[in-house]
Amino acid sequence: MIIVLKPNADEKKFQKLQSWIKDDLGLDIHFSHGEKSTILGLVGDTSKVDIDAVSALDIVESVKRIQEPYKAANRKFHPLDSVISVGDVKIGGGNFVKIAGPCSVETIDQITGIARAVKAAGANMLRGGAFKPRTSPYAFQGLGKTGIEYLLEAKKATGLPIVTEIMELTDLDMFNDVDVIQVGARNMQNFRLLKELGTIDKPILLKRGLANTVAELLMSAEYIMAGGNEKVILCERGIRTFETATRNTLDISVIPVLKEKTHLPIIVDPSHSTGFSKYVKDVTYAATAAGADGIIVEVHNDPENAWCDGQQSITPEAFAKLSTGMDKIREVVSAL
Ligand code: PEP
Ligand code: MN
Repeated sequence: MIIVLKPNADEKKFQKLQSWIKDDLGLDIHFSHGEKSTILGLVGDTSKVDIDAVSALDIVESVKRIQEPYKAANRKFHPLDSVISVGDVKIGGGNFVKIAGPCSVETIDQITGIARAVKAAGANMLRGGAFKPRTSPYAFQGLGKTGIEYLLEAKKATGLPIVTEIMELTDLDMFNDVDVIQVGARNMQNFRLLKELGTIDKPILLKRGLANTVAELLMSAEYIMAGGNEKVILCERGIRTFETATRNTLDISVIPVLKEKTHLPIIVDPSHSTGFSKYVKDVTYAATAAGADGIIVEVHNDPENAWCDGQQSITPEAFAKLSTGMDKIREVVSAL
């Protein structure tokens, strides 16, 4: 349920309304302060709230029930775009992020070299997997803690904030200095992990599951937000369909759909969605034009010899062109 207050609502009456909601009804309040009005989002069992009685209060403009099961993630709770800050980088609300880096961290030279190259080409965040969810138990599983240490070295060398994936709740301590924690597609519905990430004060990059609906993605975001961590960045990375020409099928329409349903930023992964470096450029441009708040793309200095996902990794030179292309597309689209 949301309660929209009238502009310049009397402060004493506002306090009284808040304590009635919290203390008498036992509900939580999510505040959204817009330019013109304040919106109170009521979280909990709102069935006992008498809408007519609340509407009758002279500080209240309107009262509406929210039908969707996601509340904190709902745009009705928070009409303005959420802007998530990672150091000096901002994501959402018109701020576009370019996250680039290898699928997995391999060596200190590899990650720092790629970090320098992508930074020079316009990236504002570095990706790299230290813990890798691989289909085969015999495939490279990631460097683990050492991988995070190498990422931190690359951050020191370039100033780029880092994003890396967590697979296990028990590894959380290793992520203390990581700027953005990624929850991969395979863990999108690992609810215990999501709940725990809701209790920390760090942005979470939540990737859409292989076969999950928009509503399920938003409910997973809700799990994190319900714990108090509202810094959630959504990521479309392609879904499983009958199509086998690409690794997954990029759901481009999810961008406007999510823009309507949620205030959270949405970025696109053109690498895992296509599975081939030759398709990355076109798909990235499509996502940029469709209004994504950024991209996360796999870049490797030597794709042919990458330890993971080389076939979908682009070179730093290709990323430099991609970066300029995205800027041009954004300029064109903003003038439309
Ligand atoms: C990744 O980003 O390295 C990754 C494993 O992606 P996804 O979870 O989307 O498959
Ligand atoms: Mn990968």
